[in-house]
Amino acid sequence: MPEPILKISVTCPHCALESLAELPIALIANALLIGKAIRLYSRCHNHYWTATFAEREQLRKSLAALRIESYANHAQVFSVACESPVSF
Ligand SMILES: [Zn+2]
Repeated sequence: MPEPILKISVTCPHCALESLAELPIALIANALLIGKAIRLYSRCHNHYWTATFAEREQLRKSLAALRIESYANHAQVFSVACESPVSF
């Protein structure tokens, strides 16, 4: 099974060009939890850098949004499961 990936937009520190970075969700969650540095990458300058405070906050929000989405899916499954045993 492929590792779940989060796509985030990052701004290149060299030219301010926005690009899409892909990071494993487990890596982001772990780094945010233990306060480890997160490495970001911009393709235009082939450049790696450590995520700033603002970028970490952006990642945190993206992860929180993901969690809401998965709860919503569970809720949907749950409501379907509740309806099915009712038979007349
Ligand atoms: Zn660049």
